[in-house]
Amino acid sequence: MIKGLYIHIPFCDQICTYCDFVKMVASDELKVDYVRALIKELEYFSDLVEHTKTIYIGGGTPSSLDIDLLEAFLSELSVTVNLKEIEEFTIEANPCDVSDELLKLFKKFHVSRISMGVQSTDDGLLKFLGRNHTLESVIKAVELIKKYNFNLNLDFLYAVPGQTEEMIRKDLDFIKLCDPQHVSYYSLIVEDRTIINHLINTHKVADFPDDLARDFADIIDQHLADLGYDKYEVSNYCKPGFESKHNLIYWNVEEYLGIGLNASSQYNYIRMKNPKSIKEYIAGTKKNALNMHQLEEYNPKLELLLLGLRKTKGVSLEYYKSRIKKDVFEVYPVLSKHLENKLLELKDGYLKFTKNGMYLANQVYIDII
Ligand code: SF4
Repeated sequence: MIKGLYIHIPFCDQICTYCDFVKMVASDELKVDYVRALIKELEYFSDLVEHTKTIYIGGGTPSSLDIDLLEAFLSELSVTVNLKEIEEFTIEANPCDVSDELLKLFKKFHVSRISMGVQSTDDGLLKFLGRNHTLESVIKAVELIKKYNFNLNLDFLYAVPGQTEEMIRKDLDFIKLCDPQHVSYYSLIVEDRTIINHLINTHKVADFPDDLARDFADIIDQHLADLGYDKYEVSNYCKPGFESKHNLIYWNVEEYLGIGLNASSQYNYIRMKNPKSIKEYIAGTKKNALNMHQLEEYNPKLELLLLGLRKTKGVSLEYYKSRIKKDVFEVYPVLSKHLENKLLELKDGYLKFTKNGMYLANQVYIDII
């Protein structure tokens, strides 16, 4: 049964220097055509998503859609899914787009959670990252979101070239002040086809040192724990009871449907992906049979272990056995070696990384992949 519905809006008002997601700056006409295609795809899968428990609209930047277009899409969505019954409905928003009008629209369609990419509170670093917001716009957006009582996730980045410990501490002070229910703190991964990668390769900026990244990770972990956040996944922290229900569906390898450009779906023991080209995607939704998906490899034995280990609690041995019909140590005998060398441990029926194992996780992953 489909538990989560993901909807991809690939449009952005600017292209960030570190981003390798599927996104684009687009004309108003293309946005309208795309939303029409999304609605077609949604209608096609309406029986499948009728009882979804979570919805996540991500991107790109969903809030970069014109408000009337967003409303038209949300109206169609409310015909397919009873939004009042959704346990968690998240939309990603750019701080510059947050307004009374937008938040009233979200309330009207029972959005419960807003995820906002802050990345840093340092305006110079934001400029380097290619973001179009400033600390001031973030402060205004957070005040408004709190006024309307949404659950709030704030995304931050660390290990950004040029970032100092002082900047990280300023970010953490800001989190303390805003007191969001959820924080995602990602280490910047320099992907090949990004501007930052080009700047590093041409020696215009220096790559971020690994040992300093590890120090920053420790500062972040400690500080967020002191503020009452539970680290429940490698990059995710929440106040008790505010885990992202939608992301847990991915990490628990449960069934979900993704609609939109390049979106993945997983159900009935298959995984499939939509086209990456917007032209191909829009054309694909015009065909009645809707056979534009590419099948992808689906390996629940491995994924339950890999994604389970991302969670701080680890992999439930009982859950693994109930899904795979075999004990995880029977499927991966090499795990015993890492229990002995103390990179992994067993606690309360879960297999998890030790603190040292978190830093040396690759040694475990190499053995099991
Ligand atoms: S706003 Fe998000 S999706 Fe768009 S370019 Fe920046 S990081 Fe990428």
